[in-house]
Amino acid sequence: MEDKHILMIPGPTPVPEKVLSALGKHPIGHRSGDFSKIISEINQNLQWLHQTKNEVLSLNVSGTGAMEAGMINFLSPGDRVLVGVNGKFGDRWAQICEVFGMQTERITAEWGIPLDTEEFRTKLEADTNKEIKAVVITHSETSAGVLNDLETINKYVKAHGKALIIVDAVTSLGAYNLPIDEWDLDVVASGSQKGYMIPPGLGFISVNDKAWQAYETSKFPRFYMDLGKYKKANAKNSTPFTPPINLMFGLQTALQIMQREGLENIFARHLRLTNATRAAAKALGLDLLAPDDAASTAVTAIATDRAEDIRSIMRQKYDIALAGGQDHLKGKIFRIGHLGFISDRDVMMTISCLEATLLELGHDFDAKAGVKAAAAALV
Ligand SMILES: *Cc1c(COP(=O)(O)O)cnc(C)c1O
Repeated sequence: MEDKHILMIPGPTPVPEKVLSALGKHPIGHRSGDFSKIISEINQNLQWLHQTKNEVLSLNVSGTGAMEAGMINFLSPGDRVLVGVNGKFGDRWAQICEVFGMQTERITAEWGIPLDTEEFRTKLEADTNKEIKAVVITHSETSAGVLNDLETINKYVKAHGKALIIVDAVTSLGAYNLPIDEWDLDVVASGSQKGYMIPPGLGFISVNDKAWQAYETSKFPRFYMDLGKYKKANAKNSTPFTPPINLMFGLQTALQIMQREGLENIFARHLRLTNATRAAAKALGLDLLAPDDAASTAVTAIATDRAEDIRSIMRQKYDIALAGGQDHLKGKIFRIGHLGFISDRDVMMTISCLEATLLELGHDFDAKAGVKAAAAALV
């Protein structure tokens, strides 16, 4: 049916009506006093969301652009970097480091398994000459639904003293507690179409003083992606280039909605939705890719060789979009996104439609088991 489509994928995520209305306003001049006021409010609220006093810069890029900016502004050609790779995104950050001529070492784990924090400790402790310039970690690895132990890895980075930690928080920011100042995270990147409840097009990057010091000696050429320009403009509640003005109207509204809900409640809701989805999958006799103690609160990956049949029925019959697997997991998993503007009702609806789909496919399970398990987890 027209206009009944629902996105249960890990980005883009659904957008609240109030945000859609804000996006539809007539644009105003980006050098006007009125727009300056909006930037000022957005900046304060971004710092609130990021739990930081650092500047949070907004760039007209997707999440990948924010991550690339987060690497090329603080590092130099030939730098030795450690990149955690246990999924599609970690692999992408390693590729970017290679493209830019950095000495890139991948610390890998199977997709679905969290990165081994000990491997980072060993490498960092052995580096007595302080050659490692950065450690790049994907906090929530969306391709496999895994949450990596960023807090522990960051402790080893801090003990090393020299290396920066560069974090992909694209599906953890706004879904999981990420206290940037308390953990002392140097560079943290995210993107608008995930936890922010607005459409794609904006990338965000939090930068601390240590990273700004590294910026002074970084040797990569850059112009549009030069974060120094954004910092300078930001101090005057401005932007170096024309920002996506309507997306910023939407961001202003979305951040207000998030503030009304409160950080604690936002994190609790994502955890509840995750627990309900996982409980339902187990009750339906489906296999979860990630273990319980390393489950992403943004997306649940479920392993089944009927993944594409399930996605197809869910899409065609029930107008619910689920994500598929990427690379070697294509056709072997499907992923339920429960990130951003997602409520208990959205998850209950998805689980009951999933049960109907499994019935249609002749899957052998206890009828209503998934709905019962999800409902029990949502109290
Ligand atoms: C979506 C996502 C990104 C960014 O992807 P873009 O398509 O560039 O916005 C980066 N990392 C993770 C973990 C993601 O889920």
